[in-house]
Amino acid sequence: MQNFIHNKRADKRKIIKMSKYIDKVLADVKAKNPNEPEFIQAVDEVLTTLDPVLKANPQYEKNAILERMVEPERVIIFRVPWVDDKGFVRVNRAYRVQMNSAIGPYKGGLRFDPTVNLSVLKFLAFEQVFKNSLTTLPMGGGKGGCDFNPKVSPHTPGKRCSDAEVMRFCQSFMTELYRHIGPDTDIPAGDMNVGAREIGYMFGQYKRLANEWTGVLTGKGLTYGGSLIRPEATGYGTVYFAENMLQMRGENLEGKKCVISGAGNVASFAAEKLMQLGATVMTLSDRSGAIYVPDGITPKMLKDIMILKNVKRGELADFAKKNKSVKFFAKANSWQIADKIDAAFPCARQNELNEEDATYLLKHGCTLVGEGANMPSTPEAIAAFVKAKIMYSPGKASNAGGVATSGLEMSQNSGRISWTREEVDAKLKQIMKSIHDNAYEASAKYGDKGNYVMGANIAGFTKVADAMVAQGVC
Ligand code: NDP
Repeated sequence: MQNFIHNKRADKRKIIKMSKYIDKVLADVKAKNPNEPEFIQAVDEVLTTLDPVLKANPQYEKNAILERMVEPERVIIFRVPWVDDKGFVRVNRAYRVQMNSAIGPYKGGLRFDPTVNLSVLKFLAFEQVFKNSLTTLPMGGGKGGCDFNPKVSPHTPGKRCSDAEVMRFCQSFMTELYRHIGPDTDIPAGDMNVGAREIGYMFGQYKRLANEWTGVLTGKGLTYGGSLIRPEATGYGTVYFAENMLQMRGENLEGKKCVISGAGNVASFAAEKLMQLGATVMTLSDRSGAIYVPDGITPKMLKDIMILKNVKRGELADFAKKNKSVKFFAKANSWQIADKIDAAFPCARQNELNEEDATYLLKHGCTLVGEGANMPSTPEAIAAFVKAKIMYSPGKASNAGGVATSGLEMSQNSGRISWTREEVDAKLKQIMKSIHDNAYEASAKYGDKGNYVMGANIAGFTKVADAMVAQGVC
């Protein structure tokens, strides 16, 4: 029972063969959510790879698993009123998307950015369901956030929000969110613009309101229940996944010329681990532009950049001004700068690497793309990587180290114990290897060995789908 549809978003040049079941669910998702392009893109990317597993398991269609998976279990939308330093009342719109709790409590980050809307958070929550399933830990999927922009002061042009404003915002945000979350219900973490400072303020407010000390947020500071390696975990995990892909081809990262986008949490720790493993990191980027150091950004430069971004809260443009050996490309991304590239690590945001970028990377020698960000490659770029049969790992597999280590933080909190840095790192490495191996084996089992897009989607999907079938219609 095959039909052929032209899937415009996934690949302009390719006719995709899909079962009627997938075709129907996708059409329904598009009809029901016409204003949610990112969500449709994420659903499209997953569903169009599930054909073999759906054919082999008719119980999934019988139990309407796809229809249920594309509908969040619950979406909470709320206002966040807060008072700025000048005494003006500001109002933001916030959300928590509780997508799927079949295999564990909802788990996923909070993003504070003006681009936050329901479409973006539903795409992130949908991805999170598969990612959390891949970690091998019992965590469902959720995501949340707000259109609050801590990087732009509401009253003073060119300034950021003050710490006091960020604190008042976080306290107001948590005053509503706290009733919807809990250590056995929903455990948020950080994401874009939500780091140690914001998690600290939100945790403090949760504790006051709930009158209990529980590990309700992950990414906490080390003095109050945080886990060693959690800040590093997403970036390190992305690189560990890349190592696993390379090992399958008898290679390693030593001497590889790498380009990275972003200069935030994921990008900086991916850069640190790549340097430790002997690779050359040539680029980083932020909203101001991209820096390029052909011989490699040094550990000292990276340390300075981390202080600039996390403490001084400045821009790479400022860094380039003070470091004459660094080339700076204003408002550019990292992809089309270097002449010879072995590996690319998109670690900034969704849809930041398009078909033209992919073509450039492939033309300039790139044989590995490890996604640290969520859905950073456009469907056309993914199609180019898959067609070229390079080592390409989708974010839901290769950036799962962050949420996996959040899972380890939850275990430490409930057991009232703390593991050493070495213990957590060893567990992270083991989890990344399991994710890699499961995705690889699923790709082989379903007929496209080494296609990590298909493998990760199928491996993540199967566990959740089986749990949903077992739990009946709910
Ligand atoms: P951060 O906020 O720490 O860093 C994001 C980086 O991306 C910053 O350097 C930012 O620049 C840059 N960026 C954001 N938007 C733009 C834009 N429009 N143009 C150019 N640069 C931009 O976030 P994280 O590092 O935590 O997250 C990065 C990605 O990784 C996201 O996709 C996130 O969902 C994903 N992720 C994060 C995890 C985590 O543990 N933190 C876990 C799994 C996935 P600037 O500094 O100028 O704002």
